[in-house]
Amino acid sequence: MSGTKPQTDVQREKQVREAEELLFTGPQKVGMGKGLFLGRFVADWIMPYPAIAQVERERLAGALSELRAFLDTNLNPSAIDRQADIPREVIDGLSRLGVFGMTAPKEFGGRGFSQMAYCKVMEEIGGRCASTAIFVNVQHSIGMRALLLFGTPEQKKTWLPDLVSGRKLAAFALTEPEAGSDAANVQTMATPSADGSHYILNGEKRYITSGALADVLTVMARTPIPGKNETAITAFLVTPKMPGFQVVEPRMEKVGIRGTATAKLAFRDMRVPKENILGAPGKGLKIALHILDFGRTTFGASCTGLAKTCLRLAVEHANKRRQFDKTLAEFELIKKKIARMAAGAYSLEAMTTVTASLIDRGMEDYMLETAMLKVFSTEAVWMLVNDAFQVYGGAAYFTDQPFERMLRDARINQIGEGANEVLTSFIALVGLRGPGRQFQELQEALHHPWGEWRKAWVLGLDRAGAAIRAPDVPVRSPQLRPYADRLSKLIRHFNMDVSRALFRYREEILERQYVQERLARAAMELFASACTLSRWYAELQSGQTQFGSNGVSHGAAELFLRGSFRRTRRSLSEMHENDDAAVTATADWVLQHGGRID
Ligand SMILES: Cc1cc2nc3c(=O)[nH]c(=O)nc-3n(C[C@H](O)[C@H](O)[C@H](O)COP(=O)(O)OP(=O)(O)OC[C@H]3O[C@@H](n4cnc5c(N)ncnc54)[C@H](O)[C@@H]3O)c2cc1C
Repeated sequence: MSGTKPQTDVQREKQVREAEELLFTGPQKVGMGKGLFLGRFVADWIMPYPAIAQVERERLAGALSELRAFLDTNLNPSAIDRQADIPREVIDGLSRLGVFGMTAPKEFGGRGFSQMAYCKVMEEIGGRCASTAIFVNVQHSIGMRALLLFGTPEQKKTWLPDLVSGRKLAAFALTEPEAGSDAANVQTMATPSADGSHYILNGEKRYITSGALADVLTVMARTPIPGKNETAITAFLVTPKMPGFQVVEPRMEKVGIRGTATAKLAFRDMRVPKENILGAPGKGLKIALHILDFGRTTFGASCTGLAKTCLRLAVEHANKRRQFDKTLAEFELIKKKIARMAAGAYSLEAMTTVTASLIDRGMEDYMLETAMLKVFSTEAVWMLVNDAFQVYGGAAYFTDQPFERMLRDARINQIGEGANEVLTSFIALVGLRGPGRQFQELQEALHHPWGEWRKAWVLGLDRAGAAIRAPDVPVRSPQLRPYADRLSKLIRHFNMDVSRALFRYREEILERQYVQERLARAAMELFASACTLSRWYAELQSGQTQFGSNGVSHGAAELFLRGSFRRTRRSLSEMHENDDAAVTATADWVLQHGGRID
């Protein structure tokens, strides 16, 4: 046997090295998501349930009431969908209301709100019109975010005031024909000029929201790494006035969020001054990942808004429509949907609030939580829209009702800003890294028992401790104690399955997506349960009832927790009993036979 490694191993090692470089620099504190994979409940990331500060709450109430009044009069989601355009008056109105600068600092004309407050605004817009919500998300959450986070003082002074005020529009251009889910495969090249004063960009971008409307685009392109024969991705600020900027197609025809303009762009020998580099050269992908943390949190807020709208409409219809001499609401199969929708809406709001608070608190690394929120909320809301659709029956199928539009619009959520499959795998692999490292170190220490016995002992104790001890979930209400105990036991159970998976698959876990999916699903349910429990606990402590002060009990929270615990157990039990071999065999056979089963 030759000493050279198989190509797949070499590729895998390269990918792991790149991912490590990209995602992890320096020692990391263990947050809620990573803690779950280590069998811990990092309570202070979740509890007490975050609340918007009193002074901000008053400002936010004012902002929301103005926004509602404007949207009631000026926003027509069905016309936006039909005409495939968001009217300029709507964009101007949102600009006047300061929506595009909600979280931007006041020195640039922003309103200086927290991410939690901004999420309330996005919930309001997302509950009405997905096109408008995505448009705002692109402008505020991803279009100008790189500038806000990584811009130099000069760049911020030059570009931000116009973007924050909405006088100018922004876009974020990462995706290309060969770089979709595989974002690192960007092919657009940025070659430095001989005198080093500028870069020459050549390449294509596709599916870029507001790409042909934007006055400023954050564009990801490949630049040479000085002294090496390699390239890395760098973020550039680009304007359409730069010679060589081409709009290939300004509005690609599409199924949903039709009000947004999704563009194909090309850059042909486009000269971009070196002053337009955003952040450090070669760190573009890291910048993109960080920006998407914000976009994904906003997805959670928009999905919460949509969930609440669906619930309200379904309840209205179920109480009104009569069949078999009863209202629909009297049938158990309709009650089941309504209750499920209420539970979903309650938990999505809790997850979004907690995740947004992590950004506000300046926590070190919340990419696991934002990814969990994105996948969980977009899948939950898809089911919720479907439930509302079903409650309306045939009526939902016609365009005078909003449901067919909502269904079309909601579909993008599972693909945009990271396809859910890719994020599911990401959640598992980022989560597994902590315990994986511990195992690796333990193994290495055990190979040198005399030199490193102390380390082996500590690591072994930590692993064994997590397996024996269920973590404390600090909920002190007798009413909620049973839920806290069940959550705590499930975290221990999850951690044991994490350990088993690492022992069984070792490095191969990188390729085992069935296993990754189960672990990621369990982690997402545990995170969702923790947020829901935290919210419920806070509301009990403050004497509040859910959905305002209408005397309703916390049925939705309880229902969510019961279902979520069951789903977690199911995901974990499938670690041991599953159809994986049959799934692979069937898929392989069908794939080899051109999709025929006859
Ligand atoms: C309406 C719309 C607006 C958009 N706006 C923007 C924008 O403003 N800026 C921007 O940069 N991009 C934008 N995008 C692009 C979007 O982010 C990509 O579509 C998305 O990342 C998926 O890439 P892809 O479409 O090339 O799918 P592909 O990468 O071809 O993937 C197709 C499917 O394969 C599966 N898949 C892929 N990789 C894996 C894997 N490793 N494991 C398991 N399954 C996998 C997933 O199910 C995925 O849905 C937009 C897209 C749309 C449709």
